[in-house]
Amino acid sequence: MPFEIIRADITTLKVDAIVNAANTSLLGGGGVDGAIHKAAGPKLLEACKPLGGCVVGQCKLTKGFDLPAKYVIHTVGPIWQGGNSGEGEHLLSCYATALELAKDRKIESIAFPLISTGAYGFPKDLAITIASNVIRNFLIDNDMMIYLVVFDRDAFKLSQSRHASIKAYIDDHFVDEHHDHRRQYNSVDDEAFVTYSINKMIYKEAPDKSIKKQRSLNDVLDQLEDTFSERLLRWIDVKERTDVEVYKRANIDRKHFSKIRGDKFYKPSKATAIAFAIALELNRDETDDLLLTAGYALSNSNKFDLIIKYFIEKQIYDLYTINETLFAFEQPLLA
Ligand code: ADP
Repeated sequence: MPFEIIRADITTLKVDAIVNAANTSLLGGGGVDGAIHKAAGPKLLEACKPLGGCVVGQCKLTKGFDLPAKYVIHTVGPIWQGGNSGEGEHLLSCYATALELAKDRKIESIAFPLISTGAYGFPKDLAITIASNVIRNFLIDNDMMIYLVVFDRDAFKLSQSRHASIKAYIDDHFVDEHHDHRRQYNSVDDEAFVTYSINKMIYKEAPDKSIKKQRSLNDVLDQLEDTFSERLLRWIDVKERTDVEVYKRANIDRKHFSKIRGDKFYKPSKATAIAFAIALELNRDETDDLLLTAGYALSNSNKFDLIIKYFIEKQIYDLYTINETLFAFEQPLLA
């Protein structure tokens, strides 16, 4: 999972680099800066002294000393002045230059705090959006494990309207498991359903692919035995996507994807299976079809499943947005 939003104390993370939200002097301060200096020990300050400070939006690198992280990338975020003084561009630059520096140093894992959102007063929701966008763009062409660390419990708030809309969806659709007698696709041998989905996949989703149209009944029956990995590859083919496109959109790293590709009997976690469904922009039936091959189903009796259903029904297939929402509702993230 190349991008993860986590709630943690950044000084405890065992990653190649953590990012410090420092001030222009680089000589220590409060907030996350103070915590990093405290955990890294006095050698960090000694290493910072000869650096000559740092300008807003730029970065400087030191070792991590007593921290579990090997390096600290010090950046200086903008002070919020209402939003019309280039604060957004400066914040974007903090994330972008830190990622470029990390890339130059061949850093494989990095953790960012929510730069500028403490003493510097940058609105947290806007900061999270900016950070997510920079990280997402970076990951299109690069492989790195990137954590966005949210420290305080209430730091992470969705916009009022999104929160209300999802909350209403959950309330409307939530069904207590014990009272839900509606059909659930939990059994792997729900043959009618599988056949229906496969037919849809072959005949509806690829209307102009004549070879696919002419598949014989035997082929279809063969497909009934598809494992998750086989069915995933088939969907990638049917949706005319490339592997890279799909695993990037699913927030799955290359190694993990090769493992899935190379192991016919790979058993994904439910979150991973759903991440692929989202990346492939599968509709509800198609998602059920893919999940079924891994033995999973989406139910109406838990929040996580309902949030996924909400996004699929709204055709919002952006994994970052979905993960932000899952995080806000204190649910596990995808992939
Ligand atoms: P700035 O001056 O850039 O606003 P702050 O350190 O005041 O920097 O705050 C930046 C963010 O870091 C805030 O969201 C704050 O909650 C968070 N933060 C503070 N301490 C830690 C920590 N130990 N780990 C991760 N995040 C932290």
